Amino acid sequence: MQGHSLRARNCLLLIIYIKSIDNFGIFCYNYYAMEHGARLEEISRQIKVELSTRLSSAEYMLWVDPLLPHSFDNGQLVFVTPSVNSSTTLLSNYSEIFLQVCQSLEIPVMDIFFIAKSEIEKMEGKPFIVKKEEPVEVIRHNPFVAKYTFDNFVVAATNNMAFYAAHTVAENPCSFDDSFPINPLYIHGGVGLGKTHLLHAIGNYIFANNPNLEVVYTTAEKISNEYFESLSKYSSDKNSYRNFRQKYVKCDVLMIDDVQFMQRKGGLQEVFFHIFNDLYMEGKQIVLASDRPPKEINDIEDRLRSRFESGLIADIDAPSLDTRINIIKKKLESLRLTLSEDIIFYLAETVNTNVRELEGSLSKIIMFSKLNHKLPTLESAKEVLKERYDASTDALDSDKIINFVSEYFRIPASEIIGKKKNKDIVEARMVAIYLVCTMLNLPLVNIGQIFGGRDHATIIYSRDKISAQIGSNNSVDRTIKDIKASFNCK
Ligand code: ADP
Ligand code: MG
Repeated sequence: MQGHSLRARNCLLLIIYIKSIDNFGIFCYNYYAMEHGARLEEISRQIKVELSTRLSSAEYMLWVDPLLPHSFDNGQLVFVTPSVNSSTTLLSNYSEIFLQVCQSLEIPVMDIFFIAKSEIEKMEGKPFIVKKEEPVEVIRHNPFVAKYTFDNFVVAATNNMAFYAAHTVAENPCSFDDSFPINPLYIHGGVGLGKTHLLHAIGNYIFANNPNLEVVYTTAEKISNEYFESLSKYSSDKNSYRNFRQKYVKCDVLMIDDVQFMQRKGGLQEVFFHIFNDLYMEGKQIVLASDRPPKEINDIEDRLRSRFESGLIADIDAPSLDTRINIIKKKLESLRLTLSEDIIFYLAETVNTNVRELEGSLSKIIMFSKLNHKLPTLESAKEVLKERYDASTDALDSDKIINFVSEYFRIPASEIIGKKKNKDIVEARMVAIYLVCTMLNLPLVNIGQIFGGRDHATIIYSRDKISAQIGSNNSVDRTIKDIKASFNCK
């Protein structure tokens, strides 16, 4: 009996002992995981701090800042990268500096691995979640200009390719499985021919038909400013660059207008190249618009140019007389107004450069008749347009021309007349000299003085160089045409 109870007691003790070993095991494991996690975070932090002093801030923010520590076992340190592309670059170009840094910090790292988030998820079969964000209910407002819709766009032979491509993208964005994806869609054409209209039409269409998709519309100028701002804020806000990047990589459709202004300096194009790749690899839609085709953008890295060229390039040309008439009629229809056929014809024939100008002239005729409480007649329309053209060309002087050129090239007027010799500045300067020479009746010596005291031979050289390119170089043709058109638009 005693033997039995002793055995039972021993048995009970054994069970309690086994249980506590079990708990101890769990306790040890949790403690280890906690310690390990904290240590891993600390190691990663130290490495990042050290790298931030050894790399340029652009390199640091592009490659190192987005890394998340994954594990550190048996001397093998693993980081998670946002994309396969960044893991490849880090592995081939940055492993060595990482190892050097570990050595200098006396962290016993033998090997370093960079594995893309998507690859980790594949291996572990579950999403790699760093921080769970609480879902927030957001009431979204439509950021797109309401009147820029496909319905309001007059389709003609000069723009139908761009129109149908934009429509296809809007109907079927993110078409990763599509056998003929239009990605990126690159629309180009002169000023005021409807590029921005089509981008907004895509946005409006998706907002109405696919509201869950995140569509981001921006301009190259805006994205450049945001990027440089995120860099300058970085010392006070370590998340600034990450937030900038996140905004663009997390969207479903990214539309960038006026990409000709994407600056080369400061690593922006490199950053954008990677954003582009990340979106593209995930089947996200990219739409770009510019005043010229990719091959005519001077200040662009070749690899970015080839990305721009890899999808569908659709151009928009100046509208024919018939199309201009249709555009005026469509506009009148949307305003619930009518004008006699002769006024419409006169307007369409006189304003033959771009649609923005056409709309401006039409508005002016309508305003004029409203102010005078009279129905517009052909005579009053002529009067209004005459005033408009006379005012714009009569008042043209060298300062105005230089300012228009400055606005077109996004180069300060002081640099156009200054001494700098960067390729872009020289191009803008020659265009300005050409326009001043051909549009104003001024002696060459005076023109030389206007352009920072240059001698007349330099003025003749610039004028003749641009003259020779007109007709043989599409890009120069377009530039001159667009700047001249802008004189009339203002
Ligand atoms: P871009 O971006 O090419 O400089 P916009 O898209 O801003 O030109 O167009 C200028 C104006 O002309 C806008 O008000 C736009 O609605 C109008 N427009 C241009 N093309 C068309 C068209 N085919 N049909 C109707 N409106 C047009
Ligand atoms: Mg535009």
